[in-house]
Amino acid sequence: MKPSTITIDGPAASGKSTIGELLAQEMGYLYFDTGVMYRAVTWIALKRGVPIEDEAAVTALAHRLHIDVTTPTVEDGRQYTVLADGEDVTWSIRRPEVDANVSPVSTYGGVREVMVRQQRRVAAGGRIVMVGRDIGSVVLPDADLKLYLDATVEERAKRRWRELRQRGRPAAYEEVLAMMRRRDDIDSHRAIAPLRVPTGAVVVDTTGLTVAQVLSRVRELAEKE
Ligand code: C5P
Repeated sequence: MKPSTITIDGPAASGKSTIGELLAQEMGYLYFDTGVMYRAVTWIALKRGVPIEDEAAVTALAHRLHIDVTTPTVEDGRQYTVLADGEDVTWSIRRPEVDANVSPVSTYGGVREVMVRQQRRVAAGGRIVMVGRDIGSVVLPDADLKLYLDATVEERAKRRWRELRQRGRPAAYEEVLAMMRRRDDIDSHRAIAPLRVPTGAVVVDTTGLTVAQVLSRVRELAEKE
C-alpha cells in the first residue's frame, strides 16, 4: 500500500519544498509547506509593527490571523498562494527581514500550538506531503512515511544564494551562510519542537545530488512502503 501521509523535515534549503512538491505532484497528493505559516505570522507582525521579541503580542497575533494556502492565483512561478487575512503575502514572506525574524517567532509555544492545530486539520484527510521542521516528530508522528532531508550548511547556503540571485535579490554568499547558521542554531536548540530527525524517519543526504537523484531515491522509498 502506498503511504497516504508523508512528512518531510530538515533544515533550510535542504530540498524539502522542491522534492515535496514534485513528490506530491507525482502521487496526486496535496503538498503543504508549513514554513509559510510561521513566515506569514512573522511578516504580518513586522508590517503591523508588533515587536518580534514581544511573545504575548506575537502569540495574540497568531491567534487572530487567518492564514490560507491555496493553489496559485497568479502565474509567476509560485508553488501556491499564501493569504494572510485575505492579503496575498506569497512573495513578501520570502523577504530577508522575514528570514531574519522567523526563527525567533517559531520558538514561541503559543504560536506553535495555533499552527500545529491547523496543520493537523489540513492533514486529517491523508493523501498529503507535509513539509517542515517538526512534522514527523510532533505534528504527525504516526505518518506512513517520514523523510528527513539534509545537506551541508555550505551547500544549503549556496542553493539559497543562487535562488536569491535568480529572484533579483542578490546577497553576499558569506551573509547567506551566516544567516543559515543562525537559523539552524535557533531551530535545533529551541525548547519546543526543535529540528531533529524524527523517530522512524529515513535520512536522505542531498549534498552533491541533483533534484532528479533525490526524487528518485524518495520515490523508491514511497513505493517500498
Ligand atoms: O521552511 P522555511 O525555511 O520556510 O521555514 C521558516 C522557519 O519556520 C524555519 O526556520 C523554522 O524556524 C520555522 N518552522 C518551524 N516549524 C515548521 C516549519 C517551519 O519552526 N514545521
